[in-house]
Amino acid sequence: MTATHCPYCALQCGITLERSTQAEAPEPVSLKGRDFETNGGALCRKGYSAATLLDHPERLQAPMLRQADGSLAPIGWEQALDLVADKVRAIREESGADALAVFGSGSLTNEKAYQLGKFARLALGTSRIDYNGRFCMSSAAAGTNRAFGLDRGLPFPLADLDEAGMILMLGSNVADTMPPFVRHLAGARENGGLVVVDPRRSATAKLCADNAGWHLQPTPATDLPLLLGLAHVLVAESLVDTGYLAARTNGFDAVKASLAGWWPERTARVTGVPAEQIRRTARALAQASSEAKTGGKPVYILTGRGIEQHANGTDTVTAAINLALLLGLPGTMAGGYGTITGQGNGQGGREHGQKCDQLPGYRKITDLEHRAQVARVWGVDPEIIPGLGLPAVELLEALGTPTGPRMMMIHGANPVISAPDASNVSRSLASLDFLVVCDFFLSETAAQADLVLPVLQWAEEEGSMTNLEGRILRRRAALEAPRNARSELWILSQLAQRLDAPGRFSPDPREVFEELKRASAGGLADYSGVHWDDLDAGAAVYWPCPAGTEVTAEPGIRNGTPRLFLDGFAHADRRAVLVPVAFQPAPKKNSSAVSLVTGRLLEHYQSGAQTRRVPELANAAPEPMLEIHPATALAHRIVQGQKVVISNERGEVTARALLTADARLDTVFLPFHYPGAGTANLLTEAKLDPHSRMPEFKHAHVSLNTVEEE
Ligand code: SF4
Repeated sequence: MTATHCPYCALQCGITLERSTQAEAPEPVSLKGRDFETNGGALCRKGYSAATLLDHPERLQAPMLRQADGSLAPIGWEQALDLVADKVRAIREESGADALAVFGSGSLTNEKAYQLGKFARLALGTSRIDYNGRFCMSSAAAGTNRAFGLDRGLPFPLADLDEAGMILMLGSNVADTMPPFVRHLAGARENGGLVVVDPRRSATAKLCADNAGWHLQPTPATDLPLLLGLAHVLVAESLVDTGYLAARTNGFDAVKASLAGWWPERTARVTGVPAEQIRRTARALAQASSEAKTGGKPVYILTGRGIEQHANGTDTVTAAINLALLLGLPGTMAGGYGTITGQGNGQGGREHGQKCDQLPGYRKITDLEHRAQVARVWGVDPEIIPGLGLPAVELLEALGTPTGPRMMMIHGANPVISAPDASNVSRSLASLDFLVVCDFFLSETAAQADLVLPVLQWAEEEGSMTNLEGRILRRRAALEAPRNARSELWILSQLAQRLDAPGRFSPDPREVFEELKRASAGGLADYSGVHWDDLDAGAAVYWPCPAGTEVTAEPGIRNGTPRLFLDGFAHADRRAVLVPVAFQPAPKKNSSAVSLVTGRLLEHYQSGAQTRRVPELANAAPEPMLEIHPATALAHRIVQGQKVVISNERGEVTARALLTADARLDTVFLPFHYPGAGTANLLTEAKLDPHSRMPEFKHAHVSLNTVEEE
């Protein structure tokens, strides 16, 4: 029996794997839910069926090289690695190191994320590394860094939500994306205090029924003015916590002035949320927060990608944090603000140096002291660490341009489906001289590669992950690796050897973890007091955990720092910062256009490269369905199940209509897990948030046209 965690999302539900002993067993391991604090033994459909992928017939069996006729053919590992090293040397000599690029992932273990950042800087010598987490958590990270000086998705244990009297949840559909999360909403629901903000009547919004709370259904892309309107009511009705603001924050006066124009009736006109609902929500938050400080139940504000994945995502997160600060919640036991990380290692993936502006331990690549600290651990001169690179969208856009990368290595990501304006991404990748993709299936991105390298899956590898609570835990191997697949750590160490890279590149996850700890020591996300043996014995440790912290291996004990900011925020003066933010409405393109929002389904994870290969998930959600209100469908002469072309200036997508009163009249919904003509991101825009470089994923204007079927 092996105790480990689900391979998919950041809830990192506990599971137990047992190797199947019968030859005819349907899967190589049997998988059960295990009692862990995020899931209490429960799993979702994706988790229960995850073992199906381990011996899937489409599993890549050998390195595959593109042939002259366009096909991919198997080659040996020596040949594959020599070829990559030769290409790196040749391109670097001709065009310089920045002609090489790396694209990482929030699904990689901590060790791989760390080693990939180091490999890019030392073995390739390039500044051009970024990762798919730029599409996920970057706005939340920019907003929390600005307000608190530190970014940890939930700065408190998830289990703290169980006791909540009120939770305001914006832009997150946990009932579909991470169903075991719903158990943590039970207290707020019983109290009638779950308030969900979502343009769709999502599965999570439906949890508010029967007096469990209420649902605010704003016009898409108006979360920011809605938050400004809620904050306006607090200020106008003197419901802010003045003592907290004076003692623990800066910036209140500027924010107060910025809210003057957002009285409820005006906010209602912009957002479509009735003024009385805005007042009701703000007053309820104020009352619950006041009670929480005198022995009542705590109050939380939580955000997800629905409000963050916009070109104003950082400012929207900031408005949510401002609201929490006005209520006097962050850094107290009365509640707080948190963002719900999505990808499996979305938290760890953003700490260890995969970002173009970052070195391990959340260190800045532009800070001389930070560079020197990391260089000491790497055993190199800080001068040889390249500087600032390009964020993900700009990196992808630069591919194949005269000064852009000519070669890219992609690890654990499928940007052909998951990046905005997806047809441009395909074209950019096709313009490269050489594209290497490490994956265990031939994803849509791998299918475009010149060389595909087959890697291990979750149940075949050792490592650590950091979940949505900032909690470091062990991923364990329950199976031997397939004969011809390799770990990315081995691949990177082999390539580093061939390239005579400075520094050491160990293939051993434990050794890499020990180095990662040293590199993180003294940084904001400090792992230096975490011991591999304790993780092995079941400990799951909240960072920061500096060296010398007493850590116990006993499962369930809250090791490290479960709650951040109780004795001060991470800015030099220990105070949080309220930042005034403004709203610029997006111009509507034409009068017949409707708003498109995109999101996830219960059955699928991210680009769907894995879950579309699990028969029970694929059968349950085999193709993209366009959710549309019956009245909107009637106006467009669309009937249930009919094929619809959804189009705008960037592309067109075909999907069948699913008529549902859960949609707003002016809005349709598409899931983003599907390839080909069903790729929702063909329609989304690469317009970027100025702070986080997050693209505008969650809102586009589209036209709808029916397709006559034969
Ligand atoms: Fe896995 Fe997330 Fe489902 Fe839990 S909620 S079983 S971690 S996919």
